[in-house]
Amino acid sequence: MSENKAKISDSLKKKTDPKNFNKNPIKGTKFTIMVSSAKGGVGKSTFAINLTFALQKIGKTVGFLDADIYGPSLPKMIGLNEKPKSDGKFLFPLEKYGAQFMSLGFLVDEKTPMIWRGPMVISAIKTLTEKILWKNLDFLIIDMPPGTGDTQLTFAQDVKIDGTIIVSTPQELALMDVQRGIQMFDKTKIKILGLVDNMSFFTGSDGKKYNIFGEGGVERTAKEFNKKFLGKIPINTKLRESADLGLPLTFKDPDHEISKIFSEIAKKITEDFL
Ligand code: ADP
Repeated sequence: MSENKAKISDSLKKKTDPKNFNKNPIKGTKFTIMVSSAKGGVGKSTFAINLTFALQKIGKTVGFLDADIYGPSLPKMIGLNEKPKSDGKFLFPLEKYGAQFMSLGFLVDEKTPMIWRGPMVISAIKTLTEKILWKNLDFLIIDMPPGTGDTQLTFAQDVKIDGTIIVSTPQELALMDVQRGIQMFDKTKIKILGLVDNMSFFTGSDGKKYNIFGEGGVERTAKEFNKKFLGKIPINTKLRESADLGLPLTFKDPDHEISKIFSEIAKKITEDFL
């Protein structure tokens, strides 16, 4: 164990102490996978949406649950903002590009700032996990809010999660928080499917690779904690543009070099569920 390893706080330790949690599976899906990150802005949502279509490309039926309740980005990433239909008891996910979607962003005004307090967070999460009629999914991808707060713990304790992927950029500051995230998932017994290094490097017009946020840190952290390393995603303008246009790259251009990296990651993940 290295000297600078992040210590989880006493309050987090207490909250994650082993108890008998009643974990309910999300109905309508075979496997539920969370996409997590220790920090905001590392590309977690971008990764999650592109993974969704990479899984679809290899023949899976996929749903996407935007649980980033403080900053739902799904409506923009897929260019969809309709109110989901309801039968009075359940909500029907929206469908686009052959996948199924749900986000609190569909339910509240785009410009409404989301100021949630504890009980409201829990009730919003309950709606997202219990009240959505997903249809015959192989995988449900959940885009989690960043960090190790109440939303993560509520999910970890109440929902049957089949695994989580942790997305990080390679800089030291982000990695300290990744270590804390790993410890939280280990304590709550959620299987870590692997770590992803996003914004890993930038290839200049001179063909040279620039390691803007540092090099190799995510892979090293994966090794140190005995977790799988799933791959490196470079900084790429197309990936950003396609997210802004509401047309995820892995859907729009599945043969793009970046989409191929996502395909490899999708294959590695499905191997865990064969
Ligand atoms: P998070 O969900 O972690 O907050 P986002 O997925 O919203 O982060 O990404 C933050 C910003 O970075 C977005 O504008 C997104 O398009 C961009 N982005 C994410 N990953 C990459 C990448 N590999 N290359 C270029 N831009 C990226």
